[in-house]
Amino acid sequence: MKNSKKPKIPPLVKPARVWDMLDPNIEKVSEEVQMSRMDICKDCPFLMKITKQCRKCGCHMPWKTQLPHATCPIGKWGAVE
Ligand code: SF4
Repeated sequence: MKNSKKPKIPPLVKPARVWDMLDPNIEKVSEEVQMSRMDICKDCPFLMKITKQCRKCGCHMPWKTQLPHATCPIGKWGAVE
């Protein structure tokens, strides 16, 4: 028998959305953090070099790497405080 009353557990890290870039309440990461994330993406086979878009999450990486709560969908880099 299935238990349909499972408690909902909120995610620990809110997923990054493209419109988070426009949210003035979300502070962006330092240039150093953004560059280190981009260096990882640049070496990743899932980065489309021309558009700088990730094939795994579909995001534009120069934007996504600026968001502190953003994470790589395959765990190559994570959120920062
Ligand atoms: S976010 Fe992750 S999977 Fe996507 S391009 Fe960057 S390193 Fe690769």
